[in-house]
Amino acid sequence: MKKIFYYLSFLIVILITLSACTGRYEPQTEDNTTILETEPINEHLNNPYQSTYDAMLLRWSSKDLTIEYGEADMIASNEPPFYAYIRFPYADNFADETIFNWSYEQYRVARDEFYEHQRIYSDSEAEINIHFESFLVEERYVGIVQFGDINASYFANSRDILKTFNLDLDTSQFLDSNDILDFSRIDVLTELLKSKIELAYPNEINFLDSDNNWFENILITHEGILVKMEGGLALPNYLGMISILLPYEELADLLLLTSYKNQEDSFNNNSFANLVSIEATINEERIIDPSRPMVALTFDDGPNKHTLRILDILEEHNSRASFFVIGNLIDSRRETIIRAHAMGNEVFGHSWDHKNLANLSSSEIRQQLNQTHQALESAIGETSKLFRPPFGVVNDNVRNIAREMGFTIINWSVDTRDWQNRNANSVYNSTMNDIRDGSIILYHDIYESTAEAIERIVPELISNGYQLVTLSELFMYKEIEVTLGAVITRGY
Ligand code: ZN
Repeated sequence: MKKIFYYLSFLIVILITLSACTGRYEPQTEDNTTILETEPINEHLNNPYQSTYDAMLLRWSSKDLTIEYGEADMIASNEPPFYAYIRFPYADNFADETIFNWSYEQYRVARDEFYEHQRIYSDSEAEINIHFESFLVEERYVGIVQFGDINASYFANSRDILKTFNLDLDTSQFLDSNDILDFSRIDVLTELLKSKIELAYPNEINFLDSDNNWFENILITHEGILVKMEGGLALPNYLGMISILLPYEELADLLLLTSYKNQEDSFNNNSFANLVSIEATINEERIIDPSRPMVALTFDDGPNKHTLRILDILEEHNSRASFFVIGNLIDSRRETIIRAHAMGNEVFGHSWDHKNLANLSSSEIRQQLNQTHQALESAIGETSKLFRPPFGVVNDNVRNIAREMGFTIINWSVDTRDWQNRNANSVYNSTMNDIRDGSIILYHDIYESTAEAIERIVPELISNGYQLVTLSELFMYKEIEVTLGAVITRGY
């Protein structure tokens, strides 16, 4: 029943956004993309607080995200000039509907606001990005934080988004702040929090504003209760979102959670990330016949648990594909990436946190590319410098920086729109209808429906005479010139 609700909701997203659909990627012309004239969102990176946990994490996601509970699911919309990339955990349990509803609401409000502005100012642009982290503590408690921002041409500054959820898996219930901390002793709690803020931000202490509810967003983690605060709540706005840890040992009987033991004992396994044992088996010798048709299957936005299913089917059929991964997911899915690479697939970057590069400053674009590329290199040793920008969006600035940094941009010639239809039959049909020798096909390995479709597509393409090759193989055999800064969409 929940699943039905879940997919119905996505159907709504599809219906609403259908009007702006285009079947294929079209390369952008010179002046097609307007860069937003907003404040650089990571301006604070140059200030003395750049080493604080949240200055980095919440505004720029520079840290690898911890995902110990739930699979990353997504509400995505790639309808220029409104872009949405909202990630939320899905765990097939009681919590899904509430978390999805909150996430969808963020999408809906941002989208409605955008279309409202667009009626008056036709050149409006907007982009909403939300990521999440999740902590599974003692196999019982879950802390989830969803965070991000909205950038829009009609805002002076980006607007923060912050929400925490805490779960008790034993009782299948959401915990609210009153279930976690003893607010009958709010004075003691506030003093403790204040002392921690003073330690973290000694120079900002005069800005403290204690009239606000500082405990609105708290989060269960392994080390303690993390208090998350939006910019301007307790400290000046320019510091962005902050988080302050109240360690379990210092909370003592202020903590109401029943089964909390010592941090040393606490459950620290990532129950989803370690599923794979790395085994690279290449069954038969692989020979590519340049005279026979070949295509490159490409997968964006992973790695994810469904990536494993796709790797299994590729392995079974001695075929290869290319994966464009999100930088901040690399650490939590290292084994998947190593396995994909060891099997002979190619793994490239798809930006650090899926921001629309056309809306970023030059230094932010460089950081997106560098950081992701470095994380990839540390996982698999080497990668060639192909990358795919989020939403396939490029402008002159992105191209120039790619050229200067030695990257080539890869988009696609067949768009299965699997992010929108989430239907294995549609993914299968659009692949089979649109494919030709030299196609680069776009999928997202974060959907079960895509994995299901790939299980049919791979054997069928092979029996139709296609060879499934990596992008490097495609470009080599099809003699496609791979020049720096170029945007390549096909192998014909
Ligand atoms: Zn993407």
